[in-house]
Amino acid sequence: MTNSADILRDTDRCVKCGLCLPHCPTYQINRNEGDSPRGRITLMQGLMQGALKDDATVRRHLEGCLGCRACETVCPSGVPFGDLMDATRRVLIPPPQPSGAIRGYLLSHSGARRVASGSLRLARGMGLGWLAGHLGNAQRPGMARNATFLADVTPPPRWPRTPSPVTATRGTVSLFTGCTAETFDGPTLEAAVQVLTRLGYEVVVPQGQVCCGAMDHHAGGVKDAAALARRNQAAFAGHEGPILSLNSGCRVHLHGAGGDGLGARVTGLCRLLADLDLTPLQLVDTPLKVAFHTPCTLRHGLGEADFMVALLQRLPGVTDVALPDNAFCCGGAGSRMLTDPRMADQLLAPKLEALEALAPDVLVTANVGCGLHLAAGIRRRGLTVPVLNPARLMATRLGPAAAIGPSSGHHPPQSPVR
Ligand code: SF4
Ligand code: SF4
Repeated sequence: MTNSADILRDTDRCVKCGLCLPHCPTYQINRNEGDSPRGRITLMQGLMQGALKDDATVRRHLEGCLGCRACETVCPSGVPFGDLMDATRRVLIPPPQPSGAIRGYLLSHSGARRVASGSLRLARGMGLGWLAGHLGNAQRPGMARNATFLADVTPPPRWPRTPSPVTATRGTVSLFTGCTAETFDGPTLEAAVQVLTRLGYEVVVPQGQVCCGAMDHHAGGVKDAAALARRNQAAFAGHEGPILSLNSGCRVHLHGAGGDGLGARVTGLCRLLADLDLTPLQLVDTPLKVAFHTPCTLRHGLGEADFMVALLQRLPGVTDVALPDNAFCCGGAGSRMLTDPRMADQLLAPKLEALEALAPDVLVTANVGCGLHLAAGIRRRGLTVPVLNPARLMATRLGPAAAIGPSSGHHPPQSPVR
């Protein structure tokens, strides 16, 4: 979809049946037709036909979309709502983004991301998150709320690691670190390396890889996203075999526009392990109650929620339990947990209530943004449930010789990472 005519053609597939409305989180919260998929499609049609002005009200309704794509999953007419939203943003003049240059630099330069990671680590070490939280409580509640995200940020040590003398028998996996995991969730990257190494894979971290480009793509920055895709294509071209992305949000984009030819090789951990014998992992069988959250990108974007559930059910000793309304967005929605805290917290509240009632030992999710949002909410509610990616959960279940604890993040991987 590149122009108004393309957008109009696809919006015409909507028969205005309204079946998507009960599944749309923004409609359920706001009860406003303009905040529903059907209403947004009508607004797109009005804009593209010139019957509506691109004013603040129209933008508020369109920009209010969380991009969860739950409407796509239930739509009987196959309306490609996510693509329509992306195309509409491209056609409309993008809003000014004063931080765009800085953000672009961070997304495309691993050195700059390492500086950002180091700053986050320093901020945590100096207790700035605690300080911001307490100052914010008195003067600025928003600052206190956003400071809770700092507590769960654990950047990884510098990549790549020194190769260790392990003989791979199963083949090579190339790890797509992604700017989010590389900055916010180092332990998950290390856990994946450890699990895959135990299974006989060699894990490589191709140099020169950059952000997947999803954030630019969804904000209308198609050229910037395409430039990032080309750089990733070049970085992974010299490495054969599957490309593992641990964040479902990145993976949706890499499968589509962001793949630039790589999409067919991109996979997730639960999918990669689906048909593998897990015996070499020597998993412990101590009882563990695991609640799981299926991110919208995993459920609606990739249609792979079942792979995560199936993997959990293969882990000895694990009792898996779904969070109620797992098909409903948690409110994380990329950066929306920061930019739209009212919506984010209203959507999160029932999940936290359910979590308190279920009292699991661990909550698992496959998206780093959802994980940060859930963990921050859990902390604000006074609960102590750790939030882990499936890779980290598996690493905690490895035999004693190579286990990674949920709170540790800097064990050298037993892996030929290069
Ligand atoms: S379910 Fe599909 S066809 Fe029906 S109103 Fe929603 S987008 Fe339109
Ligand atoms: S993508 Fe999600 S928030 Fe946006 S209209 Fe569809 S269901 Fe609603």
